[in-house]
Formats: sequence, C-alpha cells, structure tokens
Amino acid sequence: MSRVFNFSAGPSVLPLKVLEKAAGEMTDYRGSGQSVMEMSHRSPVYESIISETEQLLRTNMQIPGHYKVLFLQGGATTQFAAVPLNLMNHSGKADYVISGQFSQKAAAEAERFGDVHVLASSADKNFTYVPAFSATDIRPDADYVHICLNNTIFGTRFSEIPDTGQIPLVADLSSCVLSEPIDISRFALVYAGAQKNMGPAGLTVVIVREDLIGNAKDCTPSMLDYKIAADHDSMYNTPPCYAIYMAKLVQEWLRDDIGGLENMAVINRRKAKKLYDAIDASSVFKASAEKANRSIMNVTFITGDKELDQAFCTKAEKEGLVNLKGHRSVGGMRASIYNAMPEEGIEALTAFMKEFESNV
Ligand SMILES: *Cc1c(COP(=O)(O)O)cnc(C)c1O
Repeated sequence: MSRVFNFSAGPSVLPLKVLEKAAGEMTDYRGSGQSVMEMSHRSPVYESIISETEQLLRTNMQIPGHYKVLFLQGGATTQFAAVPLNLMNHSGKADYVISGQFSQKAAAEAERFGDVHVLASSADKNFTYVPAFSATDIRPDADYVHICLNNTIFGTRFSEIPDTGQIPLVADLSSCVLSEPIDISRFALVYAGAQKNMGPAGLTVVIVREDLIGNAKDCTPSMLDYKIAADHDSMYNTPPCYAIYMAKLVQEWLRDDIGGLENMAVINRRKAKKLYDAIDASSVFKASAEKANRSIMNVTFITGDKELDQAFCTKAEKEGLVNLKGHRSVGGMRASIYNAMPEEGIEALTAFMKEFESNV
C-alpha cells in the first residue's frame, strides 16, 4: 500500500495507526459482532464509546470541570448561527474580529440575530496578518467577542489569546484544536469542526462554560440549543456515531503515541519551523503571512508567478505530495501540516522545493 503525503486543509490526513485500528475493528467492534457504524447509539457499547471520547478529550485538552463538551453536527459553519442564538441574549450585541474568510462568514451570520460590530479587521491587506485590538475597544455591553484563533485559508494565527477583560471570549478553533495546549479557561466557548485535527468530517465539538448555557433566544431550533444538547448528553437525536468513534481513536493516539499535547506542540513547532525556514531561505518561494502571525498548521506561500505556482503543485502531486494548491481566494500554495502529518512529509516537501527551485 502506498500512502501519499496529504497536505489538504480539510478533510485532512489522519494518523495511519488510527486508520489501521479502525480497519481492524470495522466489521466486529471488540466482539460485539457489529461495526460501530451499525450499532444503536443507545446501546451500552456505544454509550461507552461516546463517554470515553469525552473523557479522553477532557484529559488531553485539560478542560475544566465547569465546561460542557458537546458532540454536534453541521460543521463549524452551523456554529456561526448557534453561537449568537445561544449567547447574544442580554444586550443583543456582539463584537467580531475579522481575520479571514471564516470569521467574516461568522460575523455575517450573527448579523441575522443581533447587533454585530467589527472590532478589528485585516481585510485591508487580504488577511495576511491578524489585527490587534485592546480590551477597551470592545463595547462594554457586548455579549461576547468572537475570534478565529487560526485562519486556515490565509495561514495566520493569533500569536496569543487576546485579553477581552470581562467580556466572554468565543473562538473558532477548527484548524488549531489539539495542535498544542490551549487554556480553555480563557474562553467562554470554543468550537471546532473535526475534519482538520480531530477526526473525519461530520462531527463538531463545542466546549462551553456551563453558566452560559440555558439562555438561548426563543426562536432557537432545538438542534442548535446548547441546553438541549447538554441535557441529552449530545444524544437529543442520533449523533455522528462513527465520526465520534474515530475522534476517540485520534485521542488515544495523541495520548499513547504522541504523549499528549505538550509533545504534540513540540513536534508541530519543529515541523512548521522546518518548512518556514525552507521558504525563507528560498529565492523562489515567499511566505504569504506576516512573520508574527504565521500559523503552525497552515503554511501559505507563493512564487509570485501563477503559472509557476501551478507547475509546482502539478509536479509535487506526481511526487506524492498532494493538495498543495492554495485556497481559490488566495492562490499560491498552502501546506496544511496538521497533527497527523508526519515529519517525513515536511522533509519530502522541503526536499522537493529545493529540487524544483534548482530547475527554475
Ligand atoms: C474549515 C473551517 C470552517 C468550516 O468548517 P465546516 O466544518 O466546513 O463548516 C470554519 N472555521 C475554520 C477556522 C475552519 O478551518
């Protein structure tokens, strides 16, 4: 079997060990005589899968006890609506930091439900940096501040969690969750689609401080109400059973093979440094994002010549380095180097970049 190095931004590479484990348990999950795909979500065997997944996530991410962990569907995009429906419930105001396309979409969706103010934006430079703001810029009666911690498309990230004073901070962590330890206590709520760093598409995880649950707008659909999800242990309806099971295997891999998020962070920083160093040393490639805000998960770079970018991606594909084409709104290249991208993948990519450069 030959596996490529897959730099896709999502759905993205999963650890080979996880895929092999799932394959081994595919038709008969631990003597149950069924696949996890086939079993009732109300069965004791499945209940142990979902509760173990939550426990592993809580341990790996060190989630404080007064936060609920919800396993939902609809992707991070559904949370763009669920967040205002559940949290824009006192002044009806929320402040958004626009640092890329996803935060732009999140703000546009929230506008349907209340008064949205743009706290800071980096649209002026096509999101090549993360805009700064101070706690005093926030409207004092805002129900929350929303940020996207890592901007998947543009390859930027907040270099630290911003201070929002007394105002609850909400963050989209889709493309950086589990990449390093993140202090959840700094946030009121975080959410992430699973298909970047947590498992396959179909699962969305929301981690929310308990006291913020239970005050959703009256018009909130049941499926978007965090209280209903929390009261039913994420089983108000059928959960994405198999995606949750895969997320469990990923958590086990993080704990047992990687040794936790501290170790994952060391590996991820080393991988990102290797790739950025190669780009910085190159006379052909140039990093797209400003240095201070460079993402360690999504590395964006260009040659400055569209045809050369295309030639690079085409040749790379032939070498088994796939999905390097940048997002259609940015162009150039993007190497998504999530947790499951092995260091050999970075080495193969940087070696190929050198070889490509010598032939330009
Ligand atoms: C991928 C992504 C999304 C969209 O996720 P879906 O699961 O497709 O809805 C939103 N925000 C960020 C930061 C992402 O990386």
